[in-house]
Amino acid sequence: MTDEPGRARREPKGPRPGLREAQPYRSPQRPVPVRLNTNESAYPLPPGFVADMQANLAAAPLNRYPEWDAVELRTLLAERTGWPIEGLVVGNGSNEIIQQLVLAYGGPGRRAVTLEPTYPLYSRLAWVAHADVVHVPVEPPFAITPAHVDRAVAADPHIVFVCSPNNPTGNAQPVEVVEQLAASGALVVVDEAYIEFGGGSAAQVAASAPNVAVLRTFSKAFALAGARLGYGLVSPDVAGDIRQVRLPYHLSSPTQAAGLAALRHADEAMQILDAVRHQRDRLYESLSGVPGLEVFPSDANFVLFRGPFEPAAVWQAMLDRGVLIRDLSMVVPGCLRVTAGTPDEVDRFLEAFDEVLGAAEPAGDRAAAGGSESP
Ligand code: PMP
Repeated sequence: MTDEPGRARREPKGPRPGLREAQPYRSPQRPVPVRLNTNESAYPLPPGFVADMQANLAAAPLNRYPEWDAVELRTLLAERTGWPIEGLVVGNGSNEIIQQLVLAYGGPGRRAVTLEPTYPLYSRLAWVAHADVVHVPVEPPFAITPAHVDRAVAADPHIVFVCSPNNPTGNAQPVEVVEQLAASGALVVVDEAYIEFGGGSAAQVAASAPNVAVLRTFSKAFALAGARLGYGLVSPDVAGDIRQVRLPYHLSSPTQAAGLAALRHADEAMQILDAVRHQRDRLYESLSGVPGLEVFPSDANFVLFRGPFEPAAVWQAMLDRGVLIRDLSMVVPGCLRVTAGTPDEVDRFLEAFDEVLGAAEPAGDRAAAGGSESP
């Protein structure tokens, strides 16, 4: 750091161009009583789960690196899904597997296609992986049709993302579009983070098309978002591609311990599904009864809606009443999204929303958003 003669001090070179100008990916967290913003499970873990996980953890030698290939976890997953273990991949949430796939299939001069509106992390991670990102718009009711497939294929993609049921719109996509997209030769990533709540799986398509990768997560139906565990049903070739880009020891022993316990209690965990669907349908019906509101049918554990109001102002007013929802107006204009929580949480959401709507200013009155924090 000294200014010695011949050693000019240079400005820091900084990160890659555009990095500091990009909008950070964020999802605001607030310590409020009712958190219906990130589509987690609101229900407690199955009885015995914690003791089982603790026993697994106690047996794991934490002074050693975790088991490299998570063989025990993948073996149990293979049994549960019927998928061959060679193509069963696991990661720190399905997000990590998305990142591994764009690292493997992206890169300069290569194209990633997303069908919008969808989960914004696909574009984000594809950009991180230096791929060019092409957005194909899908209009309400957000079902992908052969015409959208043609537009996606016209971009000559190397990787395409299909989210089914789709976040944030909630609708499941027809499985046929996965087959049609796969015919292009691109890697088709079918994100089934919400599949336990509804919709048909593309696993059968992936079984005969080696360029289809199905991703799932323990963060929603398994009620294990805090453990960060996701998995993929992929071909042996794609599993090999992932091994080339993944970090060594990427899946910690505590994560593997939690996953093993979750799989041993999987059938009990799935008993909450009907209750979650019931709350989702309650949300859909209650919101549909509000004049002026547009509510989108959902196969997932959340409901997207919009109305003649400023979403940021309504988001803030709900937060002020202790209810955290998600402002998705950056993804679908005017839209808010609410997760199906417990019956009590849904009651509290509906009461607060009723109160807020009674007081809300119509959209266009920008003053209504003044001082609010739009996520
Ligand atoms: N895919 C979709 C569509 C999601 O909504 C989410 C979570 N918001 C994820 C993937 C990430 O899941 P995980 O917690 O397994 O990383």
